[in-house]
Amino acid sequence: MRMSDVLDREWHDALAIQCRRAVRDEGALRAALQQADCVPQLLVQAHLSGDTDLLDQAAPYIHGGWSFMEEIPPALRRTITERLIGTLKACANGDPAAAPPRPSRETVARLLSVGVGELVPDDYVPLIFEEMTGWPEDTRDVTWRRPVEAARASLGVVIVGAGLSGICLAIKLRQAQIPFVIFEKNDTVGGTWYENSYPGCAVDIPTQTYSFSFEPKLDWSRHFATRGELWSYLELCADKYDIRRDIRFGMEVTDARFDEEKSLWQIVARDRDGTAHTMASLIFVPAVGQLNRPSKPKIAGLDTFPGPVFHTAEWDHDVDVSGRRVALVGTGASSMQVGPAIAGKVDRLLVFQRTPNWAGLNKNYHEMITPGMKWALANVPHFRQWHRALLFWASGDIMHPTIQVDPAWGDQRLSISAPNQRLRDTLTSYIRSEIGERTDLLDKVIPDYPPYGKRMLRDNYWYRMLKRDNVELIASGVERIENDTLIDQSGARHRADIIVLATGFQAGRMLWPMNIVGRGGRSIRDLWGDDDPRAYLGMTVPGFPNMFILYGPNTGLGHGGGLFFHAECQVRYIMQCLRELIEGGHTTMECRTAVFDEYNRRVDEAHGRMVWTHGGVRNWYKNSRGRVVANSPWRLVDYWKLTSALNPHDFIYTP
Ligand code: NAP
Repeated sequence: MRMSDVLDREWHDALAIQCRRAVRDEGALRAALQQADCVPQLLVQAHLSGDTDLLDQAAPYIHGGWSFMEEIPPALRRTITERLIGTLKACANGDPAAAPPRPSRETVARLLSVGVGELVPDDYVPLIFEEMTGWPEDTRDVTWRRPVEAARASLGVVIVGAGLSGICLAIKLRQAQIPFVIFEKNDTVGGTWYENSYPGCAVDIPTQTYSFSFEPKLDWSRHFATRGELWSYLELCADKYDIRRDIRFGMEVTDARFDEEKSLWQIVARDRDGTAHTMASLIFVPAVGQLNRPSKPKIAGLDTFPGPVFHTAEWDHDVDVSGRRVALVGTGASSMQVGPAIAGKVDRLLVFQRTPNWAGLNKNYHEMITPGMKWALANVPHFRQWHRALLFWASGDIMHPTIQVDPAWGDQRLSISAPNQRLRDTLTSYIRSEIGERTDLLDKVIPDYPPYGKRMLRDNYWYRMLKRDNVELIASGVERIENDTLIDQSGARHRADIIVLATGFQAGRMLWPMNIVGRGGRSIRDLWGDDDPRAYLGMTVPGFPNMFILYGPNTGLGHGGGLFFHAECQVRYIMQCLRELIEGGHTTMECRTAVFDEYNRRVDEAHGRMVWTHGGVRNWYKNSRGRVVANSPWRLVDYWKLTSALNPHDFIYTP
């Protein structure tokens, strides 16, 4: 018997057990499926039975990957559900499924294309296999090619930050039995999802994909999780993989210096008392993210304001906003969430908007996940995987073409191409429909730059909030402050009790304020200046041997996707680097300058054709010279390809 036959048998046995569990209470199964999304049911049914006739029947009614984009008639829905129940019963009875355990590339491409209502190109299929997880050959884990357990155990890795990227790497290091220490300035894990605790804080990326592919959570409450649930998820990951024991909490790394003689990073971390603790490590991984250091505007007279002033990322929970006059400065993603969350409580909300943002509707944004959907995610074999694949596509690269500049598109001020203009029209009519009779607001809220020029937002009932009697939109920044009065650029005066700064982060000053010094005593600031960070694949920099950055330059996502995916891509790449180092018997590896230069040339060239460099737009993706430093120009599938397999020749090694 071949090995693959054994694995197939095991898969069928495991499937039979899962199906028996799913059909044990047929009434509960049927009730759940009546509530659950229909398209994943369709795909599971086709996957497990090999029967694809229902795909053709359903295809004309599916217009996109989001659940609200299908209009399958009720009778066909019932047929799909009943056929799925029949398939699950057959599998539960041990009938060998017609389809092979791991669907073929063609099957995945076909099923997914029907599921999302458009042709999914072939090069996405291996990526989708990985996202779905469940087949050993599609793992993102690196396999070791030689018996190097002792060398692995003697390697040392220092990670800075226990946010989602740091936790991801720690999990993979733990599994590879490579020792590590994480220095974390906070008292617990979670990074940005710990620090940002402002009212209304949530994720605007679908939660089923905004989580580790290898650690699915089956009972998310909402399609777009709140901050609390995300933070708990990261805490759970840290506990489950036993990460905490290797985290030094309350310790902020201030210095990291590469000791050329010893080929070691000398790392200094300070505790709350300011006492310095040093540690030497072969590998140094800053995983502090881009949105870590709040940006607080230097508004003249701010220090004369008598009431509380705080940034969204440092929300002061001792301050009760109820019945107070609150000035909310800034209208980005944080403001979009906090404004509507507090508008009903405050006496008056004064929104200072320097630039309006584009915001669109996602019908699932405020929705809870139904009990039936949760049941199906937890109990119906492969339902979760197909659901994740659908959402990965729906919220992934789909908008990438919309942000490419068409040089032949005449006036580029308001839109950059035909698809971008179509999006502009859709968003404009949505905003009009929300603003309704308050036409006085329209000119203030419709942006005069192309969609995606700044980060796109999901409407969190923002426009409805603006229409409230106790909310005032001031289409201006704050010019100066005199005691309890904020004065806008027109000279109008606005009295407030509390100021909330929703003014974003110092994204371009990456890795600041750490003092990181590489070979030759050259600091990262010597190379990057204040806000011009560059790295090869966002991770490695010549002159900084054995340093790997997570969520570094040009790795942010502005068109779609989520950072869990990018973190997994980067962690796989770094694990391959460590394998190369260990198996090759090397001490250090360092990115070649030519490789680094050529990569950054390509990054800049790609950005030159994209909306974020648009002259008429200010956004946090660009540095003071207009170069995009935060975002990746690539499609998810491109970055996935770039990071899937290390090219060892990109590096110089020392023995
Ligand atoms: P942001 O997008 O950078 O927005 C900052 C806002 O403050 C902008 O409206 C900006 O105006 C304004 N501002 C800055 N300095 C100002 C000044 N001196 N006077 C008046 N206004 C000023 O910051 P953010 O809203 O915190 O969001 C940052 C990023 O965090 C987001 O883009 C997103 O990636 C992430 N985030 C994500 C979520 C989520 O749901 N997943 C939620 C929150 C944040 P201008 O536009 O004129 O510069």
